[in-house]
Amino acid sequence: MTTKALMNTYGKRAATLTKGSGAWLWDDKGNKYLDALSGIAVCGLGHSHTAITQAITNQAKILSHCSNFFAIPNQEALAEKICDISGMKKVFFGNSGAEANEAAIKLARLFGHNSGLKLPTILVMDNAFHGRTLATLSASAGRRVQAGFEPLVTGFARGPFNDASALEKIADNNPNICAIFVEPIQGEGGIRMASTEYLKQLRQFCDQRGWLLMLDEVQTGNGRTGKYFCYQHSDILPDVVTTSKGLGNGVPIGACLASGKAADLMQPGNHGSTFGGNPLSCAAALATINTIESEGLLKRAEILGKRIMAGLEKELSSVSHVKNIRGMGCMIGIELDTPCKSLFKTAMDNGLIINVTADSVIRLLPPLILTDEEADKLLAILVPLIRDFNQD
Ligand SMILES: *Cc1c(COP(=O)(O)O)cnc(C)c1O
Repeated sequence: MTTKALMNTYGKRAATLTKGSGAWLWDDKGNKYLDALSGIAVCGLGHSHTAITQAITNQAKILSHCSNFFAIPNQEALAEKICDISGMKKVFFGNSGAEANEAAIKLARLFGHNSGLKLPTILVMDNAFHGRTLATLSASAGRRVQAGFEPLVTGFARGPFNDASALEKIADNNPNICAIFVEPIQGEGGIRMASTEYLKQLRQFCDQRGWLLMLDEVQTGNGRTGKYFCYQHSDILPDVVTTSKGLGNGVPIGACLASGKAADLMQPGNHGSTFGGNPLSCAAALATINTIESEGLLKRAEILGKRIMAGLEKELSSVSHVKNIRGMGCMIGIELDTPCKSLFKTAMDNGLIINVTADSVIRLLPPLILTDEEADKLLAILVPLIRDFNQD
C-alpha cells in the first residue's frame, strides 16, 4: 500500500506484514521473518496466541464495550489480579503508555496540591522517554520529541539518570518537587539500566522527602525483564507504576497502579477514559497474564535473556566496534561505537526483525515464548551482521 491518506508520522514503512504466528511474521510477498521486536515489546506471547485469540473472540461475542458508567467484571478481575501480582493497591485503566503516564502525572499533581504546593513539580531524567502526548513529551528528554510542540507543559525538573548523588542538590534547589518519575530500564533511550542500588536510593530519598516514587514500566512490565515488573528485581515498592505495551499482547490497554499515599488520591470526576478498561481489552489482558503464569514465561524470559546475552558476549565481545552488551530478560541492547540505523534493513533482508534506538543501540525485544532453537537462529542471523557492519 502506498496511500497518501495517512499523516506522515512514521516515514516510509519497511514492509507490509500480513500474518504472524508465534515468533514469526510474514509479509505480503511471502517473506518470513523471525521477530525480535514483538511490535515494540507488545506481543510478549508472540503472534496469534490461541489463548489470547480465544479470549478476544469470546468476549467480542458477548460484549465489547459498555462505558465506565457501568461495572465491568473483567476490569475488576484484572485490577485485582494486577494488584495481587505487583503489591500495589489500586489501578486506573487507559489505552496506551502515554495515557497511563498522564494518569501518573495527574496523580503527582493532586498529591502536590494536597501537600500545599502551588506548582507541583515532577523530577524526570536525562534520556527519558514517557510518550508523545503534551505532558509526556514534556517529561521526555531530548529535542527530538519536543521540537515544534512548544509551549511545553511545565512542572518538570530534570536530573541525571542512575545517579543518586545529584538528588540532594536538585531537591534543595526546587522546593516544588513532590515526585520522581523514572524508567527502571530506559528503553527508547538505548536499554540503559537503573541499578538496583539506585532504585533503592530513590525509594529512600522519596521517603525522606515525602515524595512519590513513580516508575514508568510501560516497556519493562508484563514479564519482559523476567519478573512481572522490573522493580521486583529489587525489594522496593513504588508509589505509582505505569504499564501498557505487553499488557494486552496487542490489544490496546494501559494501566496506572498506585499504592500507599498515592492510592486514594483520585476521586469521582478527577479522571476518566471512554475506552479505558473495557470488557474486550481487559479480557485480552487477563488472558495474557494467565498465560504468562501458566506457561511459566517469567522464568522463560530470564533463561532466554541469559542464553541470548551469553551468545552475544561470546561472539561479539572481541569485535572492536561493539561498545557494550547489556540487558535483562528479553530486553537487550547492543551498543556500537557508531550510528547503525541501517542494520534494521540489513536484518530484514536476512529474515530478522530488530530495532535500532538512540542511533547506535541495537535493541532486541523478542517474544517470551521464543524457543531455544529460535534464540539460536536469532544469534546466527544477527551476529555476522554486527561483525561485518561498516559505518552507516
Ligand atoms: C512506549 C513507551 C511509552 C509510550 O507508550 P505509548 O503506548 O506509545 O503511548 C511510554 N513510556 C515508555 C517507557 C515506553 O517505552
